[in-house]
Amino acid sequence: MLVHFGKTEKLLNFYEDELASCDNCNETTVTYRIVQEYYQINSIPILPAEKYTGMSCDSCNFSNNNVISENAKLYEKLSKTPLYLYTGAAILTGTFLFLIIGAIYTAIIK
Ligand SMILES: [Zn+2]
Repeated sequence: MLVHFGKTEKLLNFYEDELASCDNCNETTVTYRIVQEYYQINSIPILPAEKYTGMSCDSCNFSNNNVISENAKLYEKLSKTPLYLYTGAAILTGTFLFLIIGAIYTAIIK
C-alpha cells in the first residue's frame, strides 16, 4: 500500500473587513481567510498544524499569507479547529490504550 504523508490546508472561515485597506493599492476590497494546516496520511487527517490568516485584495489581486493584526488573532481564535482533524491521533491513541488494557488484562488473568 502506498502511504502518502503530507501537509494540507483547510479554509475555516473568511470575512471581509471594510475598515482594512490593501497594503498594495489601499482599496478596501480586502478579504481575509482563516486557514488551518494539518497533517494527513492518505487523506486521513492526523493532527492539526498551524493556523494562519491570509488576505487577498479583490481590486489588485495582491495577497499575503501571513497577516498579523489584532483582528486576525481574534478571528483565528473564533475559528475553531475542527475535531475531525484529530482523527489519526485519536485512532493511534485508541489503539495504544487498547493494547495496554489488553496487556494488563492478560497479566491479571495469568
Ligand atoms: Zn489591492
